[in-house]
Amino acid sequence: MMFDVRNPATGEHISSLPVFSASDVSAAANLAAESAKSWENTAASVRAVKLVNAASLIRSRQDALASLLTREQGKPLAESKSEIMGAAHVFEYYASVCGSIRGDAQNLPNYGYLNVVRKPVGVCAAIIPWNMPAIIFAWKAGAALACGNPVLAKPSATAPLTVQALGNALHEAGIPTDVLQIITGDGGETGRALVDEPLVRHVSFTGSTATGREVGASAGRNLKRVHLELGGNDAFVVTKSADVKRAAAAAVRHRFYNCGQVCTSAKRILVHESLEAEFVSAAKERIEQLTVGDGMLGNKMGPLNNENQLRAVSDAVSKILNKEEGTLVTGGERVEGTGYFYRPTLLCNVVPEAVSEEIFGPVMSVIPFSTDDEAIEIANSTEYGLGSSVWTDRLAVAHKYADELKAGVVWVNKHLILPPEMPFGGVGNSGFGRENGMDFVYEYTEAKSILFG
Ligand code: NDP
Repeated sequence: MMFDVRNPATGEHISSLPVFSASDVSAAANLAAESAKSWENTAASVRAVKLVNAASLIRSRQDALASLLTREQGKPLAESKSEIMGAAHVFEYYASVCGSIRGDAQNLPNYGYLNVVRKPVGVCAAIIPWNMPAIIFAWKAGAALACGNPVLAKPSATAPLTVQALGNALHEAGIPTDVLQIITGDGGETGRALVDEPLVRHVSFTGSTATGREVGASAGRNLKRVHLELGGNDAFVVTKSADVKRAAAAAVRHRFYNCGQVCTSAKRILVHESLEAEFVSAAKERIEQLTVGDGMLGNKMGPLNNENQLRAVSDAVSKILNKEEGTLVTGGERVEGTGYFYRPTLLCNVVPEAVSEEIFGPVMSVIPFSTDDEAIEIANSTEYGLGSSVWTDRLAVAHKYADELKAGVVWVNKHLILPPEMPFGGVGNSGFGRENGMDFVYEYTEAKSILFG
């Protein structure tokens, strides 16, 4: 059976790919398991060279890969290019740390000499969403491969082609085809079969909290390791001591990037009441300059990736406005015609409870506050805890927020910057486990203790 991949801006048919059935997934997992020993025994330096060569191939193909990404996902070409280059950089990062994946040794008087080695976990499943497919694939596949594991990567059915093309580059660079396999199909059938497959020993999933719960439950039943990155509802706090114009420019950049479809988008903008009018006016001016349309044609904002997303965003805005839990400043409607376009939207005076669930689209919600303690309470009042940022020129204020915001990442005078050197992941309903930094070693290897008498 095949499924179609279509351009969310134009409806154009781009390609058709096979749906992997449960038995196809099983066959792929068998091949991966058979390849595990030889990949584990490949010297770290050799694994590193293959990853770095893959990165070079990706860089050399940046234009073709970026246009493929824009056509299947919708984001503007410039954003696609930076994501592709970011993916290459992630593979370079993992190449650079391959040789540092090692255990420990210690002399324990009266016990013996302890060696702790880090062994690969085995076949890894990487479940990749449609919003940032290239970079999320690089995080998961780069980490698993660097640690000596085979990987079965399942991209979303609405954006699988760039991941496939990146997989081809990794194969051309010498990663064996059984060690890295791209599994296509939708989540309900193929994704579920992959998570349930007994030969898969580790699942790394990025997506919704609801699906994450299901993936976590299946992994728990089968006693396999699981890493869940489940989105966020990031607070972006503009304190009394912030440079309001700079903060407004950054908030617009980090809210409307990728049409607002990023787990760490600046979703809830908390602004000190004394700055609200100035902030809203500066943000409105910038938002109204965002041209909306086909990402291939130089527009600043593309469509949402699929119809479900368009409906979810549109319903969330209507609900806030109908209940008078916020005031519309600009936008607030879909763009009529072909494509899943929604106007960049600014809501002010939003009631915090109205946005306790994340809005995964181009909607900026401004919530006024009067004291830092109140801002922290509002910021921490959702069940998510992925990213957050504080905008201030006072060190003591920055420290207070950095300490008290409940999140896996706190940025100070920045937002949405995710270098591969930085451990990334959430708390609460944003999931658990970390990608990147050196924390990936704990995700993708097991400690094996050998005590010499
Ligand atoms: P899902 O969580 O359903 O999808 C994420 C990934 O999981 C996709 O590859 C999907 O495949 C796959 N998948 C779906 N169901 C299963 C399953 N039962 N077992 C294994 N894999 C599965 O997210 P949606 O695409 O439905 O988006 C809904 C919401 O999720 C968004 O509005 C947003 O709030 C959140 N989200 C968060 C992301 C993040 O970066 N944290 C990314 C994407 C969404 P397929 O797409 O082929 O069905």
